[in-house]
Amino acid sequence: MEKNIFEKIRDNESPCELVYKDKYVTAFNDIHPDAPAHILIIPNKKIASLNDILEEDSDYLSNILLVAKKIAKELELDKTGYRLITNCGKDGGQEVDYLHFHLVGGVPLGKMISLPKSSKKILKEIESNAEKNIWKTLHL
Ligand code: AMP
Repeated sequence: MEKNIFEKIRDNESPCELVYKDKYVTAFNDIHPDAPAHILIIPNKKIASLNDILEEDSDYLSNILLVAKKIAKELELDKTGYRLITNCGKDGGQEVDYLHFHLVGGVPLGKMISLPKSSKKILKEIESNAEKNIWKTLHL
């Protein structure tokens, strides 16, 4: 099966602006930055999304957080603040099927979630029908 873009970047088969690499993670600048600092951090193991993480992936996952902290400190984002985001699946807006975390900062980032008009309509429908409101009760 053909490698996707992040697999190619991980394997040095596609150019990128590399920010950091070690045994567990690769970090590179996002090609279409949404803020002065916009870095993508991926595990060196191909994991499609947060839906697909396993207990055995814990070293990769913990190192993503540790490297995010390290990069933020290096860029002095720790002083002003930043955001670490992973998009999962269709509603999450995930475009590349390879688990990745966006480290974003360098300006105030505003509201965390900005719903499109179409979602606001759906939200109103959910709120007006309490029985359909599945989000209030979790059965974990
Ligand atoms: P997501 O929507 O969470 O899947 O984010 C995918 C991100 O990958 C987007 O922000 C893209 O700008 C970024 N991206 C896609 N291709 C590349 C690439 N070749 N190098 C760096 N970033 C990329």
